[in-house]
Amino acid sequence: MNFAGEKTLLWLMLFGIVAGGVSGYLWGDAMQSVAWLGELFLTSLKMLIVPLVAASVITGVAGLGDVRKLGRLGAYSVAYYACTTFIAVSTGLLMANLWQPGVGVNLPLDLSAPTPKAGDVGLSDLILSLVHPNIIGAAAEMKLLPIIVFCIFFAAALSTLAEQGKPVIRFFEGLNEAMMTMVEWIMWFAPIGVFALIASKLGSAGGGEAFFNQLAGLAKYAAAVISGLLTHAVVLSLILLLLARRSVMEYLSHMGSALMTAFSTASSSATLPMTLEGVKNAGVDNNARRFVLPLGATINMDGTALYEAVAVLFIAQAYGIELGFGQQMVVLLTATMAAIGAAGIPEAGLVTMVIVLEAVGLPLEGIGLILAIDWFLDRCRTTINVYGDAVGAAVVGRLVTPK
Ligand code: ASP
Repeated sequence: MNFAGEKTLLWLMLFGIVAGGVSGYLWGDAMQSVAWLGELFLTSLKMLIVPLVAASVITGVAGLGDVRKLGRLGAYSVAYYACTTFIAVSTGLLMANLWQPGVGVNLPLDLSAPTPKAGDVGLSDLILSLVHPNIIGAAAEMKLLPIIVFCIFFAAALSTLAEQGKPVIRFFEGLNEAMMTMVEWIMWFAPIGVFALIASKLGSAGGGEAFFNQLAGLAKYAAAVISGLLTHAVVLSLILLLLARRSVMEYLSHMGSALMTAFSTASSSATLPMTLEGVKNAGVDNNARRFVLPLGATINMDGTALYEAVAVLFIAQAYGIELGFGQQMVVLLTATMAAIGAAGIPEAGLVTMVIVLEAVGLPLEGIGLILAIDWFLDRCRTTINVYGDAVGAAVVGRLVTPK
């Protein structure tokens, strides 16, 4: 998409979000009537995810030309994910210690919603989730991680084949371009989509007044999460400036529509097509973009990691349980794992938080305390998740092909 088109879209989407917020605030539940428009936008994006992820990863890895370069690309990506996630959780811990949001919170809890169970979230489950016995089944269930792993190996194998591999790679290049063109078409529906998503969600939460009441009830907690996320956004911007040597404002102008989509959908996977388009328009190295973004959307979640740290400390404070330095280190490690394990779908972080709570022996029912406002904080953390991936693509892109 050209720059003029991008700019127009950015303003239209901003207008859509503001109009959605105002309508949801004023007309509350009545805005449910536009929910289907949001659903249409979301489903159209999701429709592209599986072919786009496959084509993107295969062309990204095959485009490196040499399997050995894959090692470098992979190592840079993992190092970036690990460092930024570590910074994010540390910021979360810092904010929770500074704000002390849980001190003086009134128990008993809001137990109206079912408490998540500790499911498949251990370390071995995390590793096992990298593979799937049936790749078509994984695609049907939209399990992206096994698809990505399959595609990395598939592309690496293709690039060892020389002549025989070429037509297959060219097929996926064509598929990738076609998918990206479809993304550009769907993007023009985004302003209406984000309007409908925001208006209907705020509406179903009871409109503006109910939202502010929910927010006021958990004001300190929300402030701790949001100030942490904003601090992390600044850190990521500094990384973008110093390591990727890019102008933050210019990069944000390309990423604006993806970030607004992340906020509206609360899903980094659904936002992936928009993220790929934004980073492409920003001129990031093609192979890095096609590899780093799909992988990042599934495992690199800075916002989620930060939020889990704040939430767990909040729950501990509310129960009057002191978590010392050692236990906060356990939170640091397990929150990182929980963020990796969280799928890029709405409120996934709320479920994987169980591993962190269990690790430090806190009652799982504590999750009931933060449920009321989670739909809103989910949107904020998803926006940072997507920004983290986009910055990662720029950093890794510069490291693999220095200018
Ligand atoms: N909704 C988040 C995402 O898609 C995950 C989470 O923290 O719940 O990135």
